[in-house]
Amino acid sequence: MRHQTIFRDPVCGKKVNKNKAHIIITYQGREYALCCPKCQSEFEKAPEKYT
Ligand SMILES: [Zn+2]
Repeated sequence: MRHQTIFRDPVCGKKVNKNKAHIIITYQGREYALCCPKCQSEFEKAPEKYT
């Protein structure tokens, strides 16, 4: 049995499988999955906007 962790991309709102995410970012002790480089740069520009 495989455990799949589904995250919600805070930038675009898409559901992202942890294993398939572009990157997992830890911000203030919580993990956020970003689906693509574009969402990653948006998140890094203003993480407080998305958390
Ligand atoms: Zn995204």
